[in-house]
Amino acid sequence: MVWDVSFTCDICGKKKGEANHWWMVMLGDVPCFDEGQPSQRFTLLPWNLNESRNHDMYHLCGQNCAMAAMERFMTHGTIESDLAAHSRR
Ligand SMILES: [Zn+2]
Repeated sequence: MVWDVSFTCDICGKKKGEANHWWMVMLGDVPCFDEGQPSQRFTLLPWNLNESRNHDMYHLCGQNCAMAAMERFMTHGTIESDLAAHSRR
């Protein structure tokens, strides 16, 4: 099987191989209850090839990076890192 799309972990920058157990994260809108509360929800999904092509998805190479992504989201309200922002350009 040949990968026509290559994926990179949005947390650590690792390239996806076939055997890796990857996860996806999607940030969705929520009603903004109070000033200063996060205005997005953090959704963790099992890897799915079709959905992985969705540009709203973040790609995570495993449990460690999924935890790192959630920590970043809870701390900063975003999981974009300098690394991810750079690789998307
Ligand atoms: Zn990673």
